[in-house]
Amino acid sequence: MRSRLDKAMRLAAALLAATCLQPAVQAAGIERMVILYCGESETPDVSANWSPGVDVGKSRQFSDNCYLIRHEKGLFLWDSGISDSVAAKPGGLTVANGMLVLKVARTLQAQLQELDIDPAQVTHLAFSHFHGDHVGNANLFTVATLYIQQPEYDAAFGAEPAKFGFNPALYEKLRGSPTVKLNGDHDVFGDGSVVILATPGHTPGHQSLLVKLPATGAVVLSGDATHFRDNWENRRVPARNFDKAQTVASMEKIAGILKREKAVLWINHDLEQSAGLPHAPKFLE
Ligand SMILES: [Zn+2]
Repeated sequence: MRSRLDKAMRLAAALLAATCLQPAVQAAGIERMVILYCGESETPDVSANWSPGVDVGKSRQFSDNCYLIRHEKGLFLWDSGISDSVAAKPGGLTVANGMLVLKVARTLQAQLQELDIDPAQVTHLAFSHFHGDHVGNANLFTVATLYIQQPEYDAAFGAEPAKFGFNPALYEKLRGSPTVKLNGDHDVFGDGSVVILATPGHTPGHQSLLVKLPATGAVVLSGDATHFRDNWENRRVPARNFDKAQTVASMEKIAGILKREKAVLWINHDLEQSAGLPHAPKFLE
């Protein structure tokens, strides 16, 4: 009797061990990432804000991208660009006391349609920050869960959004969205493939994004932690940033992550770099 019981227990233990030793089903993680054109802009004087004291009187053009990540657990949108409504304005939209002209040559909605994606299919949503060239089409994505740093939430949805350069009309519909308020970095899908990085300074709760693409490798999407390569290399802080010391610390944090993760930095507003990246309908894996 005893030996039969021992035998049964040994068998059960062996079965359990075998089960545990089974390799876990390989997670597909990120299936692909699409870079969408999300408008463009130009300033007549880059030194007026972006590079104080440098290149005085020189104009500069900026790119603006949105990034759509298809993960096995959902569809994640990073930034929503300049409002599609600007596409109808022949001369673009002049903002920042004449220091910036925004233009949209192709709407985000048209590009999503070409990809056969309805905005309601976006399940996860995050913005680098709440300036108008990043939340311009935010109101389209009311189904998704919003991931936002607590200080950015307080600034954007609080009593004085204009004080931070925010225009609530652009994102008002997200007030009722399922929202995850963050105080630091956050691994969105729990597998390290899409990690929100707290990089405050440009705005109170600015964030960047670490994306680990299976074939392409690791990439950090800058948001406006820096605006173009020369500013990045010289660790320049734009004049109207919310907090200078935080901005510098955030750039150093990103530099550390680039080194640790062997990642490349994709600077959202760097027109030259952006032009070299594959945009929709091409995609990255
Ligand atoms: Zn921006």
